[in-house]
Amino acid sequence: MSIVAVLAAHPDDELLGPGGTLALWVRRGDDVHAIIVADGATSRYEHGMASVLAKSSRRAGDVLGLSSVRDLALPDQRLDAIPLIDVTQRIEAVVDELRPDIVLTHFPQDVNADHCVVARATWTACRPYVLPRLKRFAVFETPSSTEWAWPADAAAFAPTVFVDISETLEDKLAAMECYESELRDYPHPRSLRALRERAGFWGSRIGRAAAEPFQLLREVT
Ligand SMILES: [Zn+2]
Repeated sequence: MSIVAVLAAHPDDELLGPGGTLALWVRRGDDVHAIIVADGATSRYEHGMASVLAKSSRRAGDVLGLSSVRDLALPDQRLDAIPLIDVTQRIEAVVDELRPDIVLTHFPQDVNADHCVVARATWTACRPYVLPRLKRFAVFETPSSTEWAWPADAAAFAPTVFVDISETLEDKLAAMECYESELRDYPHPRSLRALRERAGFWGSRIGRAAAEPFQLLREVT
């Protein structure tokens, strides 16, 4: 049994990238926790939406079978205005409590600046002598952000690990349906059809019906 911590910037990021993988790991008996760093609402919606999104993330977590969903409730789309050390220390406090074997977070060069901050802060919070139990640190793609990265930021998402989610793709899509406010019409990347097609695309790369891709940044065996 592994303890898994997923560090996501916003509600729905925890499943857009790795949702099928999380559902699969829950089935194999892992203890999977989602930590959502920003509220996902203050820059885009009127007052009250943050609590709606928090409820959506709880329902989605139940669909995936997560052990917990925690909100750090930092301001949405403004993480780069907070000293990095403050974000890092908030994440450090959670990983210090959970002591995960596996940490997943955002690809650090997404178009969304919050994703970049969370990736950087999580990497720092998980440095080896702070978290000696950690065996694997990997980053996921976030549909509607990773593929829209600023080209001058160079390094494109280059997956090295693929998880066969043929058995749990429907769970991922059912969890996404809990986020009514974040779903869009096809062909938007956050539509159910586009998420299904994306899983099929990555699956075709490895001879499976559906997959999620990850880029491995550190593994200790
Ligand atoms: Zn996001």
